[in-house]
Amino acid sequence: MTSDSAAYSLLTEEEREFQRVVRQFMEREVRPIVADMERAGRPPQELLKKMGEQGILGCFAPEEYGGGGGSLMTRAIVAEETARVDAGLDATLFVSISLISRHLLKRGTEEQKQRYLVPLLAGEASASICLTEPHGGSDALSPKTRAVKDGDHWVINGSKTFITNAPISDVFMVFARTSGENRRAKGGTAFLVDRDTPGLTIGQPFDKLSLRSSPTAEVFLDNVRVPESQVFGEEGQGFYYMLEGLDYERVFEGASNTGIAQACLDLAVDYATDRQVFGEHLASYQMIQDKIARIATGVEMSRVMFYHLIRTLERGEDCTRAASVLKLYSSEAAVEASREAVQILGGYGLMEEYPAARLYRDAKHHEIGAGTSEIMKIIIARETLKAAGKAK
Ligand SMILES: Cc1cc2nc3c(=O)[nH]c(=O)nc-3n(C[C@H](O)[C@H](O)[C@H](O)COP(=O)(O)OP(=O)(O)OC[C@H]3O[C@@H](n4cnc5c(N)ncnc54)[C@H](O)[C@@H]3O)c2cc1C
Repeated sequence: MTSDSAAYSLLTEEEREFQRVVRQFMEREVRPIVADMERAGRPPQELLKKMGEQGILGCFAPEEYGGGGGSLMTRAIVAEETARVDAGLDATLFVSISLISRHLLKRGTEEQKQRYLVPLLAGEASASICLTEPHGGSDALSPKTRAVKDGDHWVINGSKTFITNAPISDVFMVFARTSGENRRAKGGTAFLVDRDTPGLTIGQPFDKLSLRSSPTAEVFLDNVRVPESQVFGEEGQGFYYMLEGLDYERVFEGASNTGIAQACLDLAVDYATDRQVFGEHLASYQMIQDKIARIATGVEMSRVMFYHLIRTLERGEDCTRAASVLKLYSSEAAVEASREAVQILGGYGLMEEYPAARLYRDAKHHEIGAGTSEIMKIIIARETLKAAGKAK
């Protein structure tokens, strides 16, 4: 059904073959267990291992760390195809692979890469990124979590919330202020904290609307002592690493949103061509065609833009404004697609036996996580005014 996407011409032959393999894996190994994963509140470790063994997790990473040496696009293909089947599993991999593994590849010491990156790519470990705090996530440069130096160790105190994977993670990348003022990038430091470090505790998993197969919890740091070797990158530079990763993060959000919207389109088309009402298939009614056309438009525009921006990232170019446009547009398109998919299914749309209800719950997450729609609009307006030479 998706073979006519205009975006596919932006893939190489190798990438299209990889997409076919990943799609088959998701249909065979993941789709049958989505409801179980939602009930368990986490993906099974065996599934992550299987994805590691089949080269799906490390596709984009160098071979020396167990990766497949593929393009960044291969990672984006995995994100889209995973979200298409289960957005919760995609969220778990988004953090362990797209965020933490990328940070480790870019800036980790050789020891950190061997210790953390290799098991993540093999599907033998999970990881969390700990930025958001209970007093607010949008103002990310004003954490109350502090770290102070004590001899050749650091002592971290504070708490984090809404942390993806916290209940299952082996390692936590914790952002704390070590100097400087609130709302300033200078003076933040990132630390790699092992799960069994004394003073680190994890709250009960949240019971949440969206992404129910991806576990989320609070993380508490009470006099957590870590040696200097657990500083990630350079002291005082942590927030810069976080900020420079945001374009990347938002482009990958575009991949996830495209996957969710595509799942809505698949479902809407199947249902509308099967269900008969007043003696005709739903798909023969123009009001239903309008919905299908609007969902398909959102899918197509999101996919073309995220492929384009993945290529931009592969060239090492910045895309701050465009990445925010993609995140804002694609999350709204996915929410609209899920709302219309529910509508096309009528009463069945509200029943958990069909995926429409889950897609409706999951799509909403992406207007909030990784920077809300309001924050995206602030960035787009700021960058637009800057480009016009009108910034204050
Ligand atoms: C399921 C889930 C998983 C998550 N995973 C992680 C994770 O792994 N690691 C992590 O660090 N964080 C994670 N987050 C946190 C997420 O990034 C934050 O929820 C998000 O950044 C918003 O922060 P907040 O919830 O504190 O909302 P707030 O910052 O309190 O904002 C509340 C509302 O006010 C709006 N708002 C804020 N500032 C402005 C403004 N200047 N103008 C207009 N409106 C404004 C926001 O858009 C929002 O609508 C996760 C969240 C969820 C729900």
